[in-house]
Amino acid sequence: MLSSIPMAEEADTVSSLLDEGKEGKPLVVILVGAPGSGKTTFCNDVIRAARRTWTRICQDTIANGKAGTKAQCLQSAANALQEGKNVLIDRCNLELEQRSEFVKLGGARADVHAVVLDLPARVCISRSVQRTGHEGNLQGGKAAAVVNRMLQKKVLPNLNEGFSRITFCQNDDDVKTAVNTYSFLGLFDSLPPGIIGQKSGDAKVQQGIMKFFKKVDTDGNCSQNSAPKHENNENNPRPMGIEKGSEVGKDEQKNDMLLNPSVSDFQWNDAPTLAFPSISTSDFQFNMDKASDVIVEAVADFFSKVDKVKLILVDLSSKSKMLSLVKVKASEKNVDTTRFSTYAGDITRLYTGGGLHCNVIANASNWRLKPGGGGVNAAIFSAGGEALEIATKEQADTISPGSSIIVPVPRTSPLNQREGVTYVIHVLGPNMNPQRPNCLKDDYVKGCKVLYEAYSSLFNNFASIALSQNYQKEYSGDSKSEPTKSVCKSFEAVVECQRSSSEQKSKREVSYGSDCNKKSKYNGDSGGLPGMLEKEEQKSERSDHSAKSSWGSWAHALHQIAMHPEKHNLDVVEISDDFVVLNDLYPKAKKHILVTSRLPGLDCLADIRREHLPMLQKMHAAGLKWAEQFSSHDPSLVFRLGYHSVPSMRQLHLHVISQDFDSTHLRKKKHWNSFNTPFFRDSIDVQEEIKMNGLATIKDEKLLSSELRCHHCKSAHPNLPRLKSHIATCKAPFPSHLQNGQLIFALSGSSDAVSAI
Ligand code: AMP
Repeated sequence: MLSSIPMAEEADTVSSLLDEGKEGKPLVVILVGAPGSGKTTFCNDVIRAARRTWTRICQDTIANGKAGTKAQCLQSAANALQEGKNVLIDRCNLELEQRSEFVKLGGARADVHAVVLDLPARVCISRSVQRTGHEGNLQGGKAAAVVNRMLQKKVLPNLNEGFSRITFCQNDDDVKTAVNTYSFLGLFDSLPPGIIGQKSGDAKVQQGIMKFFKKVDTDGNCSQNSAPKHENNENNPRPMGIEKGSEVGKDEQKNDMLLNPSVSDFQWNDAPTLAFPSISTSDFQFNMDKASDVIVEAVADFFSKVDKVKLILVDLSSKSKMLSLVKVKASEKNVDTTRFSTYAGDITRLYTGGGLHCNVIANASNWRLKPGGGGVNAAIFSAGGEALEIATKEQADTISPGSSIIVPVPRTSPLNQREGVTYVIHVLGPNMNPQRPNCLKDDYVKGCKVLYEAYSSLFNNFASIALSQNYQKEYSGDSKSEPTKSVCKSFEAVVECQRSSSEQKSKREVSYGSDCNKKSKYNGDSGGLPGMLEKEEQKSERSDHSAKSSWGSWAHALHQIAMHPEKHNLDVVEISDDFVVLNDLYPKAKKHILVTSRLPGLDCLADIRREHLPMLQKMHAAGLKWAEQFSSHDPSLVFRLGYHSVPSMRQLHLHVISQDFDSTHLRKKKHWNSFNTPFFRDSIDVQEEIKMNGLATIKDEKLLSSELRCHHCKSAHPNLPRLKSHIATCKAPFPSHLQNGQLIFALSGSSDAVSAI
C-alpha cells in the first residue's frame, strides 16, 4: 500500500518511518527542482550528515569538474551503484523524459526515489539571480528567464514513472525534514513507499514568473478582480529588461482601474490567453456597432467549442467605444466572463504596462504583412523589432481578408524578451475605407461574413497553439489533469474538422471561406475553422531546420504518436515495441510514410549513437518492407529511405518517400531540397557511419536554400512549379550516387497487395 504522509507529521517521526530490520537497498534519489530550488545544498547537507555513502551526480561538473552529458551522468550513477553507493542525481529533472533514464537505474539493484524541491518560483528565481560562483554559471540577470522557461515545462513526478517514494518539499522546513530523512538512513534502513508531503492538487501547479509578478494574497492565490501587480523588492527580482523605477510601477495603478469592472470575474490562471485588438474598425472604417456584434458572436461560438482558453479584447483608451459596446453585448449574450475580458491599455506592453501575461497577441495587419499604417499594426511591428519582421516574412508574404497567420516570435525580439509574447497572429479583416485596397463599399453582408471569418481564423489559430501546449502537458505524464483532458477533448473536434477540410484548402484560400460547417448568422455555410489547417501546415512545414536547442510547440506531434500510438489509430499503420509507422500528414510525394522510433529522448539524427544501431536496422527493415509493398502495388514507384539532417519534428523518424514528388504539399524550395540534397541522409549511409564512427554526419542547413535541380538529370529550374512540371516528364535515370542501394525499386514478380494506406 502506498502511504501518503503529511510533511508536518513526518518532521516528528523520521526515525519511526524507517522499516526497521529489513535490509535497505541502495538508493537513487532523483532531485527535481528548478535552478535555485536548493538541489545542490540538499545533496551537500545529506552527504555531510549521512550514515550511508552517497555520491552526488551533477551534470555541470561530471566531466572532470566541467559540464558533461546526460550519458556521463548515467554511467557514473551506474558505477556508483555497482560500488554499493547511494546516488543523488543533482539535475533539474523537471520533465518526465529528463528523469526517465535515471529511473531505469532502479529495479533489482536499487530503489528510486524523487525529492521534489517545489519551492515558489519567486524563491528559485531570486536565488538564481543573486548567487555567484554557480557550477553551471546560471546566475545573474539571465537566470530569471531561464528559470521561468524551465518552470513552464515542469511536470511533477508521479509513482507510475517508477519511483517508489516521492517527497514533495514546498518550503524550507519541508526541505530540512527531507534532508534529515535521508541523512538519518542507516545502511540497513529503508523508507516506506508512497507520496510524502503533496499538500493538494493545486500545489501541483507552481506559479511561474508571471504569476510571481501578480498580486498574491496571503494564501498564495492570485487576486482575480484586478490587474496583477508587480512586486518589486530585493527578494523579487524583475525579469530581464525591466528595471527598478521603470514605468511599470506607474502604470500598475492605472491599469488596475482600467480593467473593465463589468467583466471582473475574469480569472487569471495559467490558461493560455490571447489578447486581440478590434479588427477593421480603425483604418478600415468598419462600423463599430456591427463589428462589436461580430466579436461577441465569434467569441461565444469559439467558447462553445473550446475549453480552458481565454480571450482579452484590448483597446488603447479607457474611453474606447468598442470596449463599451462589447462589454454590454457580451453580458447580454451571457458570454463566460471568467474567460473573456476587455482591457484598456497598450497591446504591446501588456506585461510591462499591466502585468498581464498573454503569450499570444493578435495584430490587425495589412495585406502585405508589413509595418506601417499607424495604429496597432505599426505598434506591434515596432515593438517586435526587425526579428518580428523577418519571422513574419518567413511565414508568408501576404494575407487575404478573413484569414490569419501565426508567427512564432523569435527570442531576440523585444516583444518576446520584454513582454513574454511567443506568438503574434496577424489577422486581416474586411475593408470599408475607399482609400485602402479591397474596399467592400459598405457591403456589410459580405463585410460581417469576412470579419467573422477573420475572428474565427484568429481564435482557431490561437487554439491550435494552445492545443500543442496542452498535448505536451498531457504526454508529460500528468494524466490526471482534468483541464488538459478537457481542452484536448474539445480540440478533437477542431482537429477532425481541420483534417476533413484539408482537401479543400486551395478553395478556401481563394474564396475567404472555410470548409467546416458551423452555423453563424453571418455565414450560413462556413465560419468554421479555417485557421486550423493553415496553422497546422504552417507549423509542421515551417521546417526551420534550425539547431534544436528547444522544440517549438508544433514539433511534438510525432513524439506524441510514438509514445501513445493507440491514441492515434487513424494515422498509425504499424506498431512495434521499437517504432511506429505512420502516414506523413503532409506527404511530399504519392507515398510518404514515417517510421518513428519509440525510444524516449531520441529526437534526431544528432542523438544517434552506436547503441542505437539495432533499432536503426529495425526501422530500416520496416521502411523497406513498406516501400516494397507500395511498389508491388504500383511498380512505377521508387523509394528512398532517409533522415533529415536537422528535422523540424521531434522524435527520430525515417522518411520513406516515393521519388515522384507528386504532391500539393510540396510547395517550397526547402521541401524539395530537404529530400534532394545531401541534407537528406540515406538510411543505409547513416547505419554505416554509426557502425564505423558511432555518430552520423549532419549536413548544413544552407543546403535547403540551394538552387532547385532535378533529382534525375540535375537540370536547374527557376521555381518549384517549373521543376515539378519538368520532373513529371524527365526520363533520365537516377544519378550514379544513388545507385548503391539507396533506391528501392519494385521487386519483379511481386504481387502483394498494399493494405490500409
Ligand atoms: P522532418 O523535417 O524530418 O522533421 O519531417 C517532419 C515530417 O512530419 C514532415 O514531412 C511533415 O509533413 C510531417 N508531419 C508534421 N506533422 C505531422 C503529424 N501530425 N503527423 C504526421 N506527420 C506529420
